[in-house]
Parts: sequence; structure tokens; C-alpha cells
Amino acid sequence: MHILVSNDDGVMAPGIIALAQAMLPLGKVTVVAPSDNQSATGHRKTMHKPLRVKRIKFPVEGVAAYSTSGSPSDSVAVALLGYIDEPIDLIVSGINRGPNQGQDLTYSGTVSAAFEAVIWRKPALAFSLCDHSEDAEYEAAATVARQVAQLKLYERLPPLTLLNVNIPPLPLEAIRGFKITRQGLRQYNDELVERLDPSGRPYYWIGGGAPTGDVTEEGTDLWATDQGYVSITPIHLDMTAYAVMKEMETWGLGELTLQT
Ligand code: MN
Repeated sequence: MHILVSNDDGVMAPGIIALAQAMLPLGKVTVVAPSDNQSATGHRKTMHKPLRVKRIKFPVEGVAAYSTSGSPSDSVAVALLGYIDEPIDLIVSGINRGPNQGQDLTYSGTVSAAFEAVIWRKPALAFSLCDHSEDAEYEAAATVARQVAQLKLYERLPPLTLLNVNIPPLPLEAIRGFKITRQGLRQYNDELVERLDPSGRPYYWIGGGAPTGDVTEEGTDLWATDQGYVSITPIHLDMTAYAVMKEMETWGLGELTLQT
């Protein structure tokens, strides 16, 4: 088994190192990831400038690692489209510093790296630790990640589907187990912050507090990790709102004619 590890926190982020280490007992491990932190850059594809790839010294023995100038999903694409010679069987993205739940998925470089993998018909798992702090501990999350990878659930997933795994920031013995969940509802607390540059022209930051969300709605990703469970959400790249599509069939749009 050949496992590709990526994520959006930068190739030397402690979460990537912990995940590469955790995957080693399962097979050969290769890391390809952005050289710098690209959290919340979404599923960005680099098309208008070259991509650079560099072999780097990685702190886990037996792991070949490469940094790229591209996005997380660029990194996965580079690996799968031929930069890495040996066929890749599984892509794991993470362990992210901070959760990827609810609407976070549209911003998430972690989940986008996994999206890129399923686009190329490869199984993918995304792992995030629900702890944003600099000194987050990845050991328990890495053990969980290895267990989820070992279960080989990804072999049973339909095309364009991945598993998004969020892990509560608890010691292993305090984690209550697994819950299969749906995406919950995030609450963003963003504020537009205006500053002035040295010439007196305004510029902006999207600032404000960290996102919160509804942890009371049972069965969601936000609820599960708040309750001390590992949250496993199957995510599909088909973003069609099927219920709305069905509803729209009753709107009489079929009788609409194009106005010329
Ligand atoms: Mn990140």
C-alpha cells in the first residue's frame, strides 16, 4: 500500500508529520504538500504560473517528502498526475490544525486536497483536529487516523465521495467512539477591519472572532466532536441540492419559454 499525505498547513506542520508517522505501519508513505501555510485557500488550481516542487528533508525516517509552490489540491494533482512514479492507493489529508465542519468545507484546503484525490478516482480521507492552538497535541488524533485508515471504509465508497473526519481534542482514553454524521451549521463571526496604509489609503482584513456553530443539533459533525466523539462525514462532490431540484419541478419552469 502506498499512501500520499498532504494538507494545507505547510509541509512541515506538526499535523502532517504526525499523520505521516501514523501511516507508516500501513505501507509506504510519501508526503507532497504546500511549502507554506495555505489554510482556507479552498480548492484552488494554479493555472497562470508555474508549479515548483522540491524534495525536502522530513523528520520521519523512511518518508520521502516534497514541498510545492502550489495549493493543497495542486500538490495532490502533481503527485497523482505523474510526479510520483509509484502508484498511489490512498490519499490522506491532515491532520489539520483546527476543525473542518459545516460550511468550513468550502474554505478548507484539507478537504480540497481530498476532493482532488477523488476527482482522480483515488480514495481519500481528510483528518482535522478540533484544536486551533499552536501547541495542539496530535498524538491521539494520529492514532484515530491510523485506525480509520485501517478500517478501509474508503474501499466501499461510491465515486466522488470521501470521508471527512474530525477528531475532538481529547486524550485517546477520553474519546467516546465514532459517530457517522452530517454537516452541521457553522456560525462565522467575521468582521471587516479597515486600516490605512502609509499613503493613507484604506485596506482591509476579514477579522473577527473564531467561528462558532450549533453544537446542539444531534447527528451533525459539530455536535459529535462537542460530545467527545470522532465525527466521520461522507462528503460528495456533487453539490446539487436534490430536494430543491424536486421542489423546482413543481414551479412550472418547464412552461417557460426563452424571451427573444
Ligand atoms: Mn489548515
